[in-house]
Amino acid sequence: MTSPSSCIFCRIATGEIPAKLVLQTDAVVAFLDVAPLADGHVLVIPRQHYARLEQMPPEAVSEVTRLLPDLGRALVQVTGAEGYNILQNNGIVSGQSVDHVHFHLIPRRSGDGLGYRWLAKQYPPGRAEDLQERLRQTLSA
Ligand SMILES: [Zn+2]
Repeated sequence: MTSPSSCIFCRIATGEIPAKLVLQTDAVVAFLDVAPLADGHVLVIPRQHYARLEQMPPEAVSEVTRLLPDLGRALVQVTGAEGYNILQNNGIVSGQSVDHVHFHLIPRRSGDGLGYRWLAKQYPPGRAEDLQERLRQTLSA
């Protein structure tokens, strides 16, 4: 896990590293991604360092996510995007490149060439029911 002292997003949150900030609260910072996938690609981070979403207390998640509607509205208004994706990766395998929780807001336009390799699968018999039961038990524990 990246320590906060060497974490680039912690350093952006404190102002040690400059960024194109678009919104700040006591708990959250939003700024333009320096390597945007689209014009207006914004990152939204908690000021406090958490490597992964499941490490955040619900209140901290709420502080970040409650800003997403206004940010999405502003992105559509300012960039003329037709829509946007909100993407939040956890772990290197998922594509997380900075070890500090961040939400991507990626403006989208028809024909922009962005997208997922959405390789949907089908569950073998009994697997969905097994997962459902185990997840329900884990979540109610
Ligand atoms: Zn950090």
